[in-house]
Amino acid sequence: MSHRSPRDSLLDALTGLLGARGLIRDPEAMARYVTDWAGDRLGLPLAVARPASTAEVAETVRLCRAQGVPMTPQGGHSGLVGGALPAADGGELVISLERLNRIRDVDPGNFTMTVDAGCILEAVKQAAAEHDCDFPLSLGAQGSCQIGGNIATNAGGLNVLRHGMMRELVLGIEAVLPDGRIWDGLTRLHKDNRGYALDQLFLGSEGTLGIVTGAVLKLVPRPEQRRTALLGLPSVAAVVALYGLARRGCSDLLTAFELIPRRCLELAMEATPALADPLDDVHPWYVLMEVAATGPVDLDAMLEGLFERGTERGLVLDGALGTSEAQAQQLWQFRESMLEGQRRHGEHLRTDIAVPISAIPDFVERASRAVMAQSPACEIIAFGHVGDGNLHFNILPPRDLAEGDKRDHLHALEATLFRVLDDFDGSLSAEHGIGRTKQVAYLARLSPVERELAEGIKALFDPDDLLNPGRILPVRSPRRE
Ligand SMILES: Cc1cc2nc3c(=O)[nH]c(=O)nc-3n(C[C@H](O)[C@H](O)[C@H](O)COP(=O)(O)OP(=O)(O)OC[C@H]3O[C@@H](n4cnc5c(N)ncnc54)[C@H](O)[C@@H]3O)c2cc1C
Repeated sequence: MSHRSPRDSLLDALTGLLGARGLIRDPEAMARYVTDWAGDRLGLPLAVARPASTAEVAETVRLCRAQGVPMTPQGGHSGLVGGALPAADGGELVISLERLNRIRDVDPGNFTMTVDAGCILEAVKQAAAEHDCDFPLSLGAQGSCQIGGNIATNAGGLNVLRHGMMRELVLGIEAVLPDGRIWDGLTRLHKDNRGYALDQLFLGSEGTLGIVTGAVLKLVPRPEQRRTALLGLPSVAAVVALYGLARRGCSDLLTAFELIPRRCLELAMEATPALADPLDDVHPWYVLMEVAATGPVDLDAMLEGLFERGTERGLVLDGALGTSEAQAQQLWQFRESMLEGQRRHGEHLRTDIAVPISAIPDFVERASRAVMAQSPACEIIAFGHVGDGNLHFNILPPRDLAEGDKRDHLHALEATLFRVLDDFDGSLSAEHGIGRTKQVAYLARLSPVERELAEGIKALFDPDDLLNPGRILPVRSPRRE
C-alpha cells in the first residue's frame, strides 16, 4: 500500500483547491520565486501557491496550518532583506499574491481607492491618475512591487517628506490570519479612533502576522505642475543647509530631496550609456529635488528664489532645471540607473539607516572615517532621502577580495557602521525592514521590554509560528513533522 506523507496530502489538497494554474511544483517554473531583486541568496520552496481570491488564500492557509507547514507570503520580490525568500530546506510553501490584482473601487470624492494586495504599485498609480488623483508612494521598484509588499514593509520612497510612508497612506486592511480567519478591516474612513488601530499592526510586520489581501488607500489630488532640478554642491553640510532653505522657501510643496554623490552619477552613466553628465563641471555632491503643486502657484519663481539664496550662501555651485516632463524623467533616470549600476558590481552592503536630519553631515563623516580605517580599499556609496534623514550608506567590497571572503568582510563593516549609528541614536532600518539579514543586529539592540512585547504580539497572531518564521524574530518552536 502506498504511503502518502502529510506534505504530499497537502499538495494534493492544494491542487484540488487552486487547480493547475494555482500551484507550481516544477523546479524550473519555481525559479522566479526563489530569489529577490538583489539575487544574493536562493531559497527552495516546497511549492508555490497562487490563490486568486481572498477565500482561496484563507483555505490555503487553513490547509497548511492543519499540516504544520510554514508559509512565505510573497509580493513582487523586490524586498531587500530576504523576507520573501523561502527557507533553503524545501519546507515552506510560498503563497504568491500575484493573481489577486484587481482594483476593487476608486472613490475620487472620498479620495480613496480599494485594491487587492497583489496589485502592482505602478498599476495603482495609473488607476488613480485616470480619476485625476495620485497615489503618492513612489519608489524605484514600483514597476514590480505590490501593495501588499508595500504594506508589509511599510515602504517609504521618494516622496515621504511630503506624503509620509505607507503607514500614512493606508486607511483600512483586509488580511488572512495565520489560522485562516479573514479579518475585514477595509474602512474608508479618514478619521476613526475606535480602540486599538489593528490595521497599523500589519504595516511593517513583514508577513509575520497575517497575509494582506486587500487595502483601502488614501489618494491626493493629481499635481498639475511639477519641476525637477539637479544641483551641484560642495559638501554634505551644504546639502543639509540647502534642504532647510528649501523646506522654508517652497511653501511645503517640496516632494523630494535626494542626496547623490558623484560616484552614483558615474554608476548611473555606466548602467545607462544614453545618460550624459548633466552639469558642465564635476561636483562632489548633488541634490535631485522636486516641487509639485495643484492650483495657481509659480513654481519657477519659487525655485529661482531658492537657487539665488543657495548660490549667495555658497551652497549651490551649478544646476539644471527640468521644465518639461521629458527633462524631468531624464533627471530621475539618474536616480534609478544608479541602483542598477551598483547591482552590477555584485554582492555589496546595502543599508537603509536613519539619523536626525541635522546629524547627516557629521554621521557621513564619522561613519566614512571608521569604515575606511577598517577597509581602505572598499568603496563607500552614501546616498538617500535627506528629508527623512534616511541614507543608503552602501559599501562595495575591495575589488581584489576573493569572492568567498566578501560576505564576512561586508558583515564586519556593517557592524562598524552600526556602532557609529548607535552613537547617533539612529535606526538600522528606516525602509527595508528586518527580514533575515538585519535580525541579529536588530535583536542585539532591543530592550527586554521591547522584545517581550514583540514576541507577545507574534504569539497572539501566530501561536504555531507558521507565517514567515525566522523573519524579524528568530524561529520559535521546533517544527512538527
Ligand atoms: C530598485 C529598488 C528600489 C527600492 N526603493 C525603495 C524605497 O525607496 N523605499 C522603500 O521603502 N523600499 C524600497 N525598496 C524595497 C522594496 O521595493 C519594498 O520593500 C517593497 O515595498 C516590497 O514590496 P514587494 O511586493 O516586492 O514585496 P516582497 O519583496 O515580495 O516581500 C517583502 C516582504 O513583505 C512580505 N509580503 C509581501 N506581500 C505580502 C502580503 N500580501 N501580505 C503579507 N506579507 C507580504 C514578504 O513576506 C516579505 O517579508 C526598493 C527595492 C528595489 C529593488
